[in-house]
Amino acid sequence: MLNQVHREWNDISLDRALSAASPAVAGALEKALAAHDLGFDEGLRLATVEGNDFVALIKVADELRRREVGDHVTYVVNRNLNFTNICIVGCAFCGFGRGADAPDAYFHSIETLVAKSVEAVERGATEVCIQGGLPRDLDGYFYVRLLRAIKSRLPGLHVHAYSPMEIAYGIDKTRLPLRDYLLMLKEAGLNSIPGTAAEILDDSVRKSLSPNKLKVRQWIDVIRTAHSLGIPTTSTMMYGHTELPEHWVRHILLLREIQKETGGFTEFVPLGFIHPQTRLFQSGRARAGHSTPEDLLVHALARVLLRGYIPNIQISWVKMGFDLSLACLDAGANDFSGTLMEESISKSAGATFGESITPGEIRAMIRMIGRTPAERSTTYKILKTFDYADAEERLPLERLPVMAGGAPDHAQLAQASY
Ligand code: SF4
Repeated sequence: MLNQVHREWNDISLDRALSAASPAVAGALEKALAAHDLGFDEGLRLATVEGNDFVALIKVADELRRREVGDHVTYVVNRNLNFTNICIVGCAFCGFGRGADAPDAYFHSIETLVAKSVEAVERGATEVCIQGGLPRDLDGYFYVRLLRAIKSRLPGLHVHAYSPMEIAYGIDKTRLPLRDYLLMLKEAGLNSIPGTAAEILDDSVRKSLSPNKLKVRQWIDVIRTAHSLGIPTTSTMMYGHTELPEHWVRHILLLREIQKETGGFTEFVPLGFIHPQTRLFQSGRARAGHSTPEDLLVHALARVLLRGYIPNIQISWVKMGFDLSLACLDAGANDFSGTLMEESISKSAGATFGESITPGEIRAMIRMIGRTPAERSTTYKILKTFDYADAEERLPLERLPVMAGGAPDHAQLAQASY
């Protein structure tokens, strides 16, 4: 059981974990603890650890998390709005996109999206996260009109919207320069941008995942330009498909370089590949999604490599479930993500952990690992700290069987010799 291994590594002291690690891994981890940046070779060494080295990485990531952001676990009350699933891009890893003629294709009207935003605010949301497919006949000014409509009704709501791929599509459609297009979105009410569509920032890997998607250089251009205009973004990485550990390391170090220059990333979100309903997996071109050791390792690796630059490492409970998400919060992560209220992208690819969770359920789970929940804004301003449990805190009982029995194989973890 993951829970048991999780408890066991929690009982191991940092010093004991480091002294049991191999000299090369202990040396790299001690360098990170001394606040020095690790390079590619050190990162690759950490990205392939097993046994005692694995436990040492987890313990050091947890310690760096504690030093950098303390013991609060943050979350945001938000709603996802996946406004259309019609898409012409055809990413092989996607289970969400549909052709315009598909029987289950949809495109929500602006009125519907405003109504959903109003309902979200009534349920306590401070953010809506808007992303969708790319329909062939999309008007490049649709994104602007949607922002204006939401902001005219809900001026205080934070709108976190449009992946770099959608921004690139808007530019393609309108023929406006990137900077002008982003400024237009900002003036219409765009507050921040999801750093999705990053997948793995390596064009050879991207070619096999999605040859029609924007290239690494375009992703970086959108992100850098947004940051230069004062529009923060998140950063993400999709793992568990065709990539190798060296791609994780290059990807994370690239994000670190951008952050050194712009300071515009609010967080890093590792996103495990959800495989069942995807062409990439069904055609035999990818492994069967993210594994438990990979999940723990990627969150810990990110904490160690991004130390001092990107303070927030977010779990994705939609993709990992709650058991593993809590374990990752003890392996370098510090943010529980959001309530979501609805979610279509991971669910369409085969995720089974639900699409909505209440703030009280989030807080109850955070309490299970002995940490203090804190509600945050999208940009990590603490809105309220919950030092004590209240009446709304309850565990999602219907999910407990999943939490108790859903942990995948973790043989690699068991190699630790404590
Ligand atoms: S990942 Fe996004 S761009 Fe790619 S096919 Fe799916 S909806 Fe379209």
